[in-house]
Amino acid sequence: MTREEAAKTLGEIWYLPEKEADAVAMAIEALKEDVAPVKHAYWEEYGALFDGVDEYPMYRCSDCIVLNYKKSRYCPYCGAKMDKEEDK
Ligand SMILES: [Zn+2]
Repeated sequence: MTREEAAKTLGEIWYLPEKEADAVAMAIEALKEDVAPVKHAYWEEYGALFDGVDEYPMYRCSDCIVLNYKKSRYCPYCGAKMDKEEDK
């Protein structure tokens, strides 16, 4: 397994509680440091997902446009660091 593959595998874990998700995100960043420059993106509000019982606000990565159910510090799909200013 290469560092990039390890980072990708970790990035596919998206159902972790907040604390673990942050730890995984930091591991991804550490793994990617030597592989590729960190991408920067931000979460766009993307309406809500209704599962028949509850509504969940959804967010869309400005880089890979994949949806996420929370504003995590990193995009779990493309690994972008979500610290970019929203385009205005
Ligand atoms: Zn993304």
